[in-house]
Amino acid sequence: MNLLIIRLIIFAVLFFAGLKLYGMYRQWKLDRETLEHQPQRRDGSQMVRCQWCEVHVPEEEALRDQQHWFCSSAHRDRYLQEQSDLNASTPPKGTPDDDKH
Ligand SMILES: [Zn+2]
Repeated sequence: MNLLIIRLIIFAVLFFAGLKLYGMYRQWKLDRETLEHQPQRRDGSQMVRCQWCEVHVPEEEALRDQQHWFCSSAHRDRYLQEQSDLNASTPPKGTPDDDKH
């Protein structure tokens, strides 16, 4: 008799845990869907994010460089400058080291 009650309690706990998990899953899925649909506006223009200042600008006003978007040519240049600096992380070899007399 005792075992049956324990089984019932376990079953009830599992049931409510599953119900709660399902609710959380639904909420998460809903949040994700709204998040995915947010950047795409229905009024024609799609919003893109500037790679440099992270400001959202309409696609037709933004500048594109490969897969990156920028709000202005200045920010595009700064971003590309930073990227080339990161790529050239090795110290420049052209520095005249034999010039210290
Ligand atoms: Zn910008």
